[in-house]
Amino acid sequence: FSNMAKSKFEYVRNFETDDTCLRNCYIVVRLDGRNFHKFAEQHTFTKPNDNRALGLMTRSARSVMEELEDIVIAYGQSDEFSFVFKRTSTWFKRRASKLMTHVASQFSSSYVFYWKEFFGEQPLLYPPGFDGRVVLYPSNHNLRDYLSWRQADCHINNLYNTVFWTLVQKGGLTTAQAEDRLKGTLAADKNEILFSEFDINYNTEPALHRKGTTLIWEKRDETVIKRKKLPSGEEKDVAATRSRRRVQAHHCDIIGEQFWEEHPDVLED
Ligand code: ATP
Ligand code: ATP
Ligand code: MG
Ligand code: MG
Ligand code: MG
Ligand code: MG
Ligand code: MG
Repeated sequence: FSNMAKSKFEYVRNFETDDTCLRNCYIVVRLDGRNFHKFAEQHTFTKPNDNRALGLMTRSARSVMEELEDIVIAYGQSDEFSFVFKRTSTWFKRRASKLMTHVASQFSSSYVFYWKEFFGEQPLLYPPGFDGRVVLYPSNHNLRDYLSWRQADCHINNLYNTVFWTLVQKGGLTTAQAEDRLKGTLAADKNEILFSEFDINYNTEPALHRKGTTLIWEKRDETVIKRKKLPSGEEKDVAATRSRRRVQAHHCDIIGEQFWEEHPDVLED
């Protein structure tokens, strides 16, 4: 029966559409929290930046990198994270839907699984969701511009949110008044408000908030002590170094050259 079922029904497989990602391109999967404006309110996130939430996002992204194959770099800020698969990846035959859904589900389940490590006894009130999309970038230049775009977005939003919430929390303005005050202001104006009215130098605000989080693989030499038996029969402790790959977080500028010069292995030629 099973053979007959196969021949009779298997044609439905041909209804599947081909979503193979173009060869030689970087495959970027970006996730974004669904309705996190509300999620943040309901879980009393600190305004403008809740470090528990940022930590949980990064922990979940780390789990994605550790559990899935071929991700060379990830960048996150607010409720979003972007994952970059290496150009030569053949994981899941480069099928976009497979890559994207594995990233999204690994991330979502990790977000719930590690919730307690960051929020302690504060309960998770409902299961959060994340949307995903796939974008292909054919050159290192395009990929770097993509990552720069996300980091620039982080900067613009964080500068705005920092001034906005300072006006509310320290300046005693209502949210409507703060919004009004910031209408039409440029970056320089916002820096000036922080500095002259609140004695805050934006550049010394936490790098995690200003720059977001970049995750890359780093090789570390680890020294392990091994007990070895010598031919004579006596035992001796011997130090051995081995290199280990681990995910390392950075909160630095990735728009300029320095980061890429310091980590030349991240992008292929
Ligand atoms: P959508 O479903 O369309 O993505 P959204 O409500 O998630 O809607 P976003 O533009 O993704 O809208 O914005 C995410 C919002 O989540 C932010 O504006 C902010 O209010 C909140 N948020 C996310 N992370 C944090 C955090 N670490 N600290 C404080 N607020 C946060
Ligand atoms: P892949 O990652 O490629 O999907 P897989 O191991 O998940 O690999 P599937 O073809 O999806 O392979 O098969 C799922 C397998 O999970 C089944 O063959 C069976 O062994 C096991 N499984 C799933 N649900 C149950 C269940 N309710 N009871 C017992 N076994 C189950
Ligand atoms: Mg969102
Ligand atoms: Mg977002
Ligand atoms: Mg199955
Ligand atoms: Mg399966
Ligand atoms: Mg971040």
